[in-house]
Amino acid sequence: MKSLYPHYDVIVVGAGHAGSEAAGAAAEIGAKTLLITMNLDAIAKMSCNPAIGGVAKGQLVKEIDALGGLMGKVADKSGVQFRILNTSKGPAMWSPRCQSDRALYSKTMRLELEKKNNLHFRQDNVVDVITTEDGKRAKGVRTATGQVFQAQSVILTTGTFGNGLMHIGDTNFGGGRSGERASIGISAALEDLGFEVGRLKTGTPPRIDGRSIDLDQLEVQYGDEEPTAFSFMTDSLPTREEQLTCWIGDTNEEVHDVLRSGFDRSPMFNGTIESTGPRYCPSIEDKINRFSDKNSHQLFLEPEGWNTYEMYLNGFSTSLPEDVQYKALRTIPGFEDAVMLRPGYAIEYDYFPPYQIRRSMETKITEGLFFAGQINGTTGYEEAACQGLMAGINAARKVQGEDEFILKRSEAYIGVLIDDLITKGTEEPYRMFTSRAEHRILLRQDNADLRLTELGHKIGLASDERYNQFAEKKKAIDELHDLLADYTVYPEKMDPMLKENGTSTLSQPVKAKTLIPRPELSIRNIMEADSELKDKALEITTNELVFEQVEIQIKYAGYIEKEFEMVKEMKKQEDTLIPESLDYDKIESLSAEGKQKMDRIRPETLGQASRISGVSPSDVSVLMVYLKN
Ligand code: FAD
Repeated sequence: MKSLYPHYDVIVVGAGHAGSEAAGAAAEIGAKTLLITMNLDAIAKMSCNPAIGGVAKGQLVKEIDALGGLMGKVADKSGVQFRILNTSKGPAMWSPRCQSDRALYSKTMRLELEKKNNLHFRQDNVVDVITTEDGKRAKGVRTATGQVFQAQSVILTTGTFGNGLMHIGDTNFGGGRSGERASIGISAALEDLGFEVGRLKTGTPPRIDGRSIDLDQLEVQYGDEEPTAFSFMTDSLPTREEQLTCWIGDTNEEVHDVLRSGFDRSPMFNGTIESTGPRYCPSIEDKINRFSDKNSHQLFLEPEGWNTYEMYLNGFSTSLPEDVQYKALRTIPGFEDAVMLRPGYAIEYDYFPPYQIRRSMETKITEGLFFAGQINGTTGYEEAACQGLMAGINAARKVQGEDEFILKRSEAYIGVLIDDLITKGTEEPYRMFTSRAEHRILLRQDNADLRLTELGHKIGLASDERYNQFAEKKKAIDELHDLLADYTVYPEKMDPMLKENGTSTLSQPVKAKTLIPRPELSIRNIMEADSELKDKALEITTNELVFEQVEIQIKYAGYIEKEFEMVKEMKKQEDTLIPESLDYDKIESLSAEGKQKMDRIRPETLGQASRISGVSPSDVSVLMVYLKN
């Protein structure tokens, strides 16, 4: 195998959201890395909505950032509007989201990657994975230009490009996403190696010229008064006045009638598209078909960036024929003169059912080959990015002879996502929800740094600067905690404030901390009522995030304690490793279904085995006894 080029430690194929994080992480922790992608001008391109974060996805971004990844930083630098969602609920549900400048996001990610010393770039189309003759060890890749690139680890992050087939009504054509060609070759090569390949589908709405919309007919949606950053390192964001606005509109029965008129030519309904799409991100035709009793659906008109009139019509994803899309669009109130810049479309693509990878993201069939992102059956930039980060870390650590870096379900949403994928698999595009995390009280967006920055620093990913900032914050949190636990407040100073906030007055002096669990009160209220306490607290820190953190920790202490207890109970199962070569057939008392499922999935821990559907609690007990002996 001859190559013009140097031997790399890690090759990352594809520079989408997974590939960018993978390449950034591998290079940062010292692996000589090559990022090969079809179009170097489309690094971390947002294929669909120009937005980062949202419910549960925002938590993923904060975790990526806390570990030292790039998405949070890049999102902050390219955001045009910032909001925290779910603020009416408890802090476990608060989720940051931003509207992004699509082009700026891509440019900023490229700039961040170009800062990495060990990272090299190549524009090319990978058509084959090179392995040892028996297919058991990855050695590099071959590209469409006939070049060979060698490496010890190869990470595939080809997204929606694998044998991509796009649909608009009864027209279909090959492509990886609008304006870009499909990736042909890799899927067949992997099938030859013994990988199972499946098909999934997703779709996107038309893009609109914002100048053609009568915005007076829509409801305006502003960003937050005090915007919140994704990155723990960001110190300034655009003010609310500087941020761009979004707009809310609605479909109506007339719009639905127009859409229905195209159903007979819809690839979704006439059998052309057979693969499954994201249930929680349905197309507009799917919505009016499934929820036929609803005579209106909400639409969000979102800016695509600071310097463009192009807008994204969130909620109107469609693959209906273009004439139907156009007519339906112009029937929406406010959209009577709408100019459509790009029609909506659906895309079918290859994915590799994720029971074929391990917790480290390395494939079970071919050592040194890793998969990350949409190729594993997920959907979403954030879901892809966090997998890329973990694959990049582990591919580099493998080359360096270090242990695998695994996050548990109790440590991070990232751990939940990977465990779900490899344990439960996915037959429809997988997206993250807060409900998927059983320990979500612990996995809040506000404490991602407290959970993960130390780990990120230990593996060489989180910078010293990040670590020092985190250590300072942690120290301030501890000191503020101690102050509130030690400091006595008296009825004379507190009672007027307590009355004002509608909560009961004090009958005797108490420690300041004991007042914080009252829902009506914040640390700030108590500080304002006692200037000595205020001075002492401000001497410790002026960082608002420290006050927020201590307040959450005290207010929700009961729930948090309980959750920690549960994690402790489950730790034994999570830490009990199952040998990879275990012959389940030999364990007589296992149920037939348990044997079959575990043989296919090959769980790495007893905890993982217990979450496989079809593996009963008695199977887990049998396995536990067997492993003990
Ligand atoms: P991608 O972002 O797809 O990036 C893949 C990268 O690999 C690209 O840079 C490509 O050039 C490169 N590449 C591919 N093959 C090769 C090769 N052989 N050689 C070299 N480079 C290669 N997500 C949502 O959450 N909600 C949605 O509603 C939604 N709708 C979508 C609609 C459409 C039409 C599309 C295309 C995607 C949609 N997504 C949606 C998904 C979202 O775009 C992806 O989840 C996310 O981009 C996946 O990231 P990734 O890094 O895995 O892959």
